[in-house]
Amino acid sequence: MDVDNLIIGYFMLFLGILVGVIFYSEIRRKRFEPIPSEDHIFRCIECGYVYTDDADVDRSRCQQCGTINIPIQF
Ligand SMILES: [Zn+2]
Repeated sequence: MDVDNLIIGYFMLFLGILVGVIFYSEIRRKRFEPIPSEDHIFRCIECGYVYTDDADVDRSRCQQCGTINIPIQF
């Protein structure tokens, strides 16, 4: 009887470690996944060049011709 309890105890311990490892690797995987980009997309009214800039800027200068553009709204 004591041996049975010991085996069950080891089995539960093994199961617990396994669940812990899966849980830990899942957290690591989520952390390294690329976060969706919140950047604004701009399209130049002068030359039609499409580019992106940070989400916190209202206006961005075109990298091709220097014209100030407002972001495209979807
Ligand atoms: Zn331009």
